[in-house]
Amino acid sequence: MPEPIFMHVDVNSAFLSWTASNLLFNKKIDYDLRLVPSIIGGNQATRHGIVLAKSQPSKKYGIITGEPVIDAKKKCPGLIVMPPDYGLYVRRSNDLMELLRRYTPDVEQYSIDEAFCDFTGFGLLYGAPVVFANELRETIRNELGFTVNIGISNNRLLAKMASDFKKPDMVHTLFPKEIPGKMWPLPIGDLFYVGQSSEIKLRNLGIRTIGDLAHFDRDILKSHLKSFGLVLWNYANGYELEFTPDETIQNKGYGNSMTVRYDVTDAETAKYYILSLTEIVTTRIRADGAMVKVVAVSITDPDFSHCSHQMTLTSPTDITEKIYKAACRLFDELWDGAPIRQLGVHTSKVCFESYYQYDLFDGTRIDKLRTMDSTIDRIREKYGYESLKRACFVKV
Ligand SMILES: [Mg+2]
Repeated sequence: MPEPIFMHVDVNSAFLSWTASNLLFNKKIDYDLRLVPSIIGGNQATRHGIVLAKSQPSKKYGIITGEPVIDAKKKCPGLIVMPPDYGLYVRRSNDLMELLRRYTPDVEQYSIDEAFCDFTGFGLLYGAPVVFANELRETIRNELGFTVNIGISNNRLLAKMASDFKKPDMVHTLFPKEIPGKMWPLPIGDLFYVGQSSEIKLRNLGIRTIGDLAHFDRDILKSHLKSFGLVLWNYANGYELEFTPDETIQNKGYGNSMTVRYDVTDAETAKYYILSLTEIVTTRIRADGAMVKVVAVSITDPDFSHCSHQMTLTSPTDITEKIYKAACRLFDELWDGAPIRQLGVHTSKVCFESYYQYDLFDGTRIDKLRTMDSTIDRIREKYGYESLKRACFVKV
């Protein structure tokens, strides 16, 4: 049996980097957003948007992905805020997945800018994994114009931890024998799936590093954090048991989810995430000329408990507003008020019908919405995302 080799490919500050290279390419601005304190954020007019991505220089100001834009601006008054361009992100994401599939059929897309590639048994073809990963990283940079980090290990968890080491544009390994030297000295907050609230609980137990957790008494851990404590203990020791790929975009449908370091505790912020996720999902649906009939929302709390809820629409659709409204309704029914670590919007029952099956009562309205969505997609593709804003962003 060959040694398993997994690589985790992660685009550096994806939304920001894709927007930056696009603006430069189209000569919309003459400086690189990646080199100044900047963020991609929900609409500023409402003052309620959230930080969707940040540049490396903005990290120095302590800006966190998922926090309100208004807080980020307080931390860095000169911060440049750019709106998201989902059509662009979906195209760039597809470009990346297509490039990766040239090298292995085993590409598991994990989020819009991340994928796991199984390179087990490819040694004879591609040579040493680190040498090959560096070639792959350079190919992505040269062909697609953005940088990625690649993490390499024997399982996906460790590959993902490795891709999070020093950024940008780097390859790192984290093989099991390297765990004590490379992973255990890291602060506990760097461990996969540890968010703000779990970090506080772990710190209260005197656990400051991933190594502290790896050596901690499992019974005491279980009495304080229940079975989730044991999941984290396994992660700290490099075992990927229960490394659930909920986020994996299923081929059967279109979905996207986000893990947030900044736990979401209010419905309004959660719905900005839901809109952002829905925009990505529906842009992909329309790009494929597809329709979906089932919408689902998933929520994972900081203790890893996962719940999801789905509904069947009266007719298949590709309309952003319809899917967003369904997702919000599902969210309201599902959410118990606990802090949110991960949110997902998924769709299934995909069909490719050449005509739109109208709801009995809102035929004209649907025509308008569909025309609006395709017009928005085209205008945004041509003039940029900023050229149009959804009314729900403007009204607050
Ligand atoms: Mg990334």
